[in-house]
Amino acid sequence: FPLVEIHEIIHVFGLGHIYDDNKKIMYPILFRIKSCEIDSIDENTNNCLKNIYSDNKLEGNCSDLEMYPWPEENYFLDDFKWDKLPVTYSISNCVDKQKNYLQKAERILENFSGYELYEFSLDEENSQVNFYCANSTDESLLNFEADSWSESNYFVAAQPNFVFEDETIKKVKITLFSQNKECGGIELHELLHGLGLRNHYGYWMFYEESLCLDDGVIDRESISKIKEIYGLE
Ligand SMILES: [Zn+2]
Ligand SMILES: [Zn+2]
Repeated sequence: FPLVEIHEIIHVFGLGHIYDDNKKIMYPILFRIKSCEIDSIDENTNNCLKNIYSDNKLEGNCSDLEMYPWPEENYFLDDFKWDKLPVTYSISNCVDKQKNYLQKAERILENFSGYELYEFSLDEENSQVNFYCANSTDESLLNFEADSWSESNYFVAAQPNFVFEDETIKKVKITLFSQNKECGGIELHELLHGLGLRNHYGYWMFYEESLCLDDGVIDRESISKIKEIYGLE
């Protein structure tokens, strides 16, 4: 199915992106669209096009779609700060191996930084950061903050979601998709996201991809950024 071509042609006709459904053709391509699952134009988009290009003779409306000029998308994200350390985190629906990897990653991060950054909690509801293990990406709305194992879109390892209330961080929900990976790997990276880094610093992600080494590897730039945000050292 010529997904990208049709997506771009529909832009030419004036329609912008749809953000709430990654199985629709106008979901932003950069946001990990479910490309293999799309083989048609959804009814909403189709009816809108028919309506506006038939001078309203054909039924349909565009009221819940973005029409040109559509809002600009901003890919730079503001980092955030929790009011105090350590930040509490909980783990849901994960096998023991994955739980151990997360706790190992926490120790590595704390040894490396010299601060108690995280505290494990059994309270999934009220913990500040919650890790949730999913078996596949089917039920997840992936976006451009999804972390993949490679440049390809098809091996998504984790999806962090940040919940703000009046610009204050309230909760970070991180879905992990590959909990059976040998050595783990995405845990250090996601723990850094959970502390407030929404952007990637330095060679972050190239280095922190494996817990095979006992002490792991963390890019200095990410740790410096964490220290800067929390005024440590
Ligand atoms: Zn587009
Ligand atoms: Zn990331």
